Amino acid sequence: MTNVLSVASEAVPLVKTGGLADVVGALPEALAPHGVAMTTLLPGYPAVTATLGKKPKVLHKWESLLGEPARLLAGKIGAHPLLVLDAPGLYAREGGLYGDATGRDWADNWKRFAAFGRAAADVAGGVVKGLGFDLIHAHDWQAGMTLAYQRFSPAGPPLPSVITIHNMAFQGHYGADLFPALGLPPQAMAIDGIEYHGGISFLKAGLASASRITTVSPTYAREIREPGFGMGLEGLIRARESEVSGIVNGIDAAVWNPASDPALKAAYSGKALAKRAANSRALEAEFGLEKNGDSPLFIVISRLTWQKGMDVLLEAADHLVGIGGRLALLGSGDAALESGFHAAAARHPGRIAVRIGYDEALSHRMLAGGDAILVPSRFEPCGLTQLYGLAYGCVPVVSRTGGLADTVIDANLAARQAGVATGVQFDGVRYQTLADALTRTVHLFRDPAAWRSLQRAGMGADFSWRGSGGAYADLYKSLTVTA
Ligand code: ADP
Repeated sequence: MTNVLSVASEAVPLVKTGGLADVVGALPEALAPHGVAMTTLLPGYPAVTATLGKKPKVLHKWESLLGEPARLLAGKIGAHPLLVLDAPGLYAREGGLYGDATGRDWADNWKRFAAFGRAAADVAGGVVKGLGFDLIHAHDWQAGMTLAYQRFSPAGPPLPSVITIHNMAFQGHYGADLFPALGLPPQAMAIDGIEYHGGISFLKAGLASASRITTVSPTYAREIREPGFGMGLEGLIRARESEVSGIVNGIDAAVWNPASDPALKAAYSGKALAKRAANSRALEAEFGLEKNGDSPLFIVISRLTWQKGMDVLLEAADHLVGIGGRLALLGSGDAALESGFHAAAARHPGRIAVRIGYDEALSHRMLAGGDAILVPSRFEPCGLTQLYGLAYGCVPVVSRTGGLADTVIDANLAARQAGVATGVQFDGVRYQTLADALTRTVHLFRDPAAWRSLQRAGMGADFSWRGSGGAYADLYKSLTVTA
């Protein structure tokens, strides 16, 4: 049995802002069949400590963790062990995980996630008697400092470690003036340590200190060697190229399965696709969209940001309607995009409808009732919504980047003749490329046999955690088993 400490700032079902949480929440279950016992460490946000009951077990106390009193509490996430860093001065506050209700980052995020890393390194180093680990798996910049603290600790050799990049765009950069407060020895502030262009980078700290680096798709693992995707860390990625790999995220088949999904009007499967129609009618009614079986209902479930190409979709909204499409959008994010989509809906009543917000159950109903899901991301480390689309027979229309390139098979002639096509891909996120992809999708939709074939091939593809769980387990074993 390999004991792994998974260090992350979010995990379903407790706290989530994006795909990171889905993955961290799924890993313990995905790895259990491979002889890996995973313990997850999370910050003690209110939504996390609330699950611990009145008298949680206290495993350790810090009088001062970067100046804050803190405790390590024991809990459960699903059937698996959970450790919670309870430090009310850092995490017990109203608002988001990383910022206040207006979306502004908390000014002390450096301290919140440096303290988190310090505590994680202490736990990995054996601060709790009887709690030992063979390996640390850190996720994203919020956990990056864990690996720097254990590497520069005088306590002994570091454990083997893996860091997974879920999104290179978020790096945790701070000024060099904070260095003394981190409590690291001077040699840590170096080019092969946590230093980054004269400042400090938490993600770089993790990437420079980890035994191995993974990201969430093979294509993204290649893309981040280039400046457009590496976002300043491409040099480090190139230098460590042989230690960087990509493992595609799985999806939880117990949650994302149209045959058993309690959120749906009607259950269905690839064999019983006709039953899907009831979900489409219900979705049209819910969004106030025209009923029109000849016109594909496009859906979007997304953060409304530049990364996701939502500005380009907004530009193409009139074209989408002009070629006979309809659009139901669920998302939140940039205020200008939110109001832009509201305006598009006002221009096209019955054809475009928008829900601003975050609504898990609605996202399930949309996947079951929509015909095609649009994911026109400029970059996409893995992407989960196209995988949900595949599982629900909601055909993905995606840009050819990152995990979108790895998980969708474009409906070109050869793939269609072989019966393996699952969606529509386009190159480069611009008005014209997206408009052409939308037009191509409408043509495919109007050929019912071709469309059913896309839906069935997608629903038959296996994006469960079976394969990817094994890939992580193999990676852990390569680092922990000594010859
Ligand atoms: P990212 O992590 O970059 O936002 P992913 O596709 O990897 O993108 O993961 C996004 C996750 O968040 C998916 O599980 C998706 O269904 C969910 N999601 C995003 N926006 C919403 C929303 N407005 N309502 C419900 N779920 C959403």
